[in-house]
Amino acid sequence: MAVVESPTRDKHQQSLFDIAVEQFHIAADVIGLDDDMRSMLSVCKRQLTANFPVEMDDGSIRVFTGHRVQHNTAPGPAKGGIRFHQDVTIDEVKALAMWMTWKCAVAGLPYGGGKGGVAVNPKLLSQGEVQNLTRRYTTEIEPIIGPQRDIPAPDVNTNPQIMAWILDTYSTIANRGVPVPAAVTGKPILLGGSQGRAEATGRGCVFVIEEACKTHNIDLLKSRIVVQGFGNAGSTAALILHEMGCKIVGVSDSHGGIYNADGLDIPAVMEHKKHNVSVVGFPGSEEVNNGQLLELDCDILIPAALEGQLTEENVPNIKAKLIAEAANGPTTPEADRILYDRGIVVLPDILANAGGVTVSYFEWVQGMQSFYWTEEEVNSRLKRIMVDAFAAVNATSNQYHVHMRTAALARAIQRVADATRMRGIYP
Ligand code: GLU
Repeated sequence: MAVVESPTRDKHQQSLFDIAVEQFHIAADVIGLDDDMRSMLSVCKRQLTANFPVEMDDGSIRVFTGHRVQHNTAPGPAKGGIRFHQDVTIDEVKALAMWMTWKCAVAGLPYGGGKGGVAVNPKLLSQGEVQNLTRRYTTEIEPIIGPQRDIPAPDVNTNPQIMAWILDTYSTIANRGVPVPAAVTGKPILLGGSQGRAEATGRGCVFVIEEACKTHNIDLLKSRIVVQGFGNAGSTAALILHEMGCKIVGVSDSHGGIYNADGLDIPAVMEHKKHNVSVVGFPGSEEVNNGQLLELDCDILIPAALEGQLTEENVPNIKAKLIAEAANGPTTPEADRILYDRGIVVLPDILANAGGVTVSYFEWVQGMQSFYWTEEEVNSRLKRIMVDAFAAVNATSNQYHVHMRTAALARAIQRVADATRMRGIYP
């Protein structure tokens, strides 16, 4: 979770789902998708919204609003995370669900796409209140989730403990309390979670950055890198790149950003955040705001926070040569066009952050078989999928002379459209 500014959304009144649909049509044009298929794939199949009461520590009742959206289930069960954030809306969850469909298709996973969210700032609740909220939300969405239907996972502000409560609540309702491990991914390893899942989004992002650097002749180990957002994906990507020997010159979280031209000691920054809530105030660093952070002099920029961060206002000033989207939806379509014209390569979210859902898929397979893999096996299979996905998207980008987002979407939409056509319409 990081900086919360979202200028484009406010300014142009274009909702996040409008942006997802605009991106869809740009790619649909490239592959010449027919109107019938466009009308089926540009809407979400199923949306559930629940207002539900939660008992607080002081005995009072608060009513929260949560959603679970399934964009598509043609290739397989819906798959996607659940976020707890004060700005969650049904529009945002719909966009995120659609992007999950395309992300799973880019990685070649046998899933459609879904997403969930509750409008809440969990940092203002006690652990007990978060548990009550999670369990009640799970009972509300239980009719539409399940290991063969729709499989939740972590997202912004949710974690393995929250997945454990979802698992327990679901299993209590649907299986008389006997655990159904494949009902949720991103669980603690003790409850059937996968080795390597916690690091998977960051690790997968680094695999595609490595491939992009080879393709575009960027010397990764000599690169200066900026990471916006220091949650699971951002901090893991920063740590892996730091361990490889890269210089991470700037990082940020929801409280602000820090900069050091000589490189930040990422394990020490992680330790600092653990004790001080934020990266801000890290000794030897200069404080920067969100706008300054994104425009810092660097070679690689990793947006790993929220949507709507790279816009037509700020991308003319971006210095990075390569942008790897660990976050979902950080770049607007206008910003994409400007970046492409400026020759800046964007590794889109549905490729760059697909490592998380890919290891979720491994976790689901392991849960179904009750047969668990080693971390080496997980990481080497993850690498193969990310490297192949990058090569395929890069080839499509060259074939159609389009940027990597449109190329990734074109491949994904084609795959889901073909699956939909083969299945036909019942009845
Ligand atoms: N929330 C993550 C994403 O946006 C992971 C989803 C999953 O593992 O199902 O890709």
